[in-house]
Amino acid sequence: MAKRRRLIVANWKMHGRLTSGVTLARDIVEKAEANKPLEFDMVLCPPATLIWSIGEAIAGSPILLGAQDCHTATHGAYTGDLSAAMFTDLGCRYVIVGHSERRSQHGESSELVAKKVEAAQLAGLTPIVCVGETAEQLQSGSTGEIIRQQVIASLPENLKKGQLVIAYEPIWAIGTGQQPAPRDIAAVHKIIRGALGAAGEIVPVIYGGSVAPLNALALFQEHEIDGALVGSASLNSDGFWAIAEASR
Ligand code: PEP
Repeated sequence: MAKRRRLIVANWKMHGRLTSGVTLARDIVEKAEANKPLEFDMVLCPPATLIWSIGEAIAGSPILLGAQDCHTATHGAYTGDLSAAMFTDLGCRYVIVGHSERRSQHGESSELVAKKVEAAQLAGLTPIVCVGETAEQLQSGSTGEIIRQQVIASLPENLKKGQLVIAYEPIWAIGTGQQPAPRDIAAVHKIIRGALGAAGEIVPVIYGGSVAPLNALALFQEHEIDGALVGSASLNSDGFWAIAEASR
């Protein structure tokens, strides 16, 4: 498969207060301005409380904005929830859905994730749909089948194929410093493309799980890996930028 422009996504999770978040975003913008035109796409997904301020900090730069989750409905009596259209209003272009922390800590099923994908696409956002196997599933040799099922079940029937990213995030690799070998990641990405059918040709498939400056270069040797979803290493502007540079 030909090498595509890569997508580097920061998932800040529940990190960042007003001052620290804006400072981090400004540091990243400074690097982006010094390296224009960028040879990759970069998205920051801060906590919802910071989206407006980060949007202001990155305004006019090539950096894009995303959210970490959205509700399935456009509006309504859903105390504490936020709709995809609300994120569109704030200038978001992407939204992460089905992250393993949402699936495990909030009991989100693939069927619910599929509804979120539909809601995100309707609001004009590109959903970044996370899938990944547990350590037990890896050990039992069922990774391929688990991922295939998750991809199929996490997408709605009326999917807009040109407005989608899949993130392969093995649960055992998130925040652990462990990772599959790059060739094993590439093999799973091929399974994901297979599950997507014809859309597999156009949908970016990115990898997440302990991506760091030291392992990024080896990851991006694999042309199957269209980018990275970065958690803890995205909280440091130098480290995050080094990962992005490795993707060129
Ligand atoms: C994540 O949770 O999306 C993630 C990739 O985290 P980390 O990079 O910290 O493993």
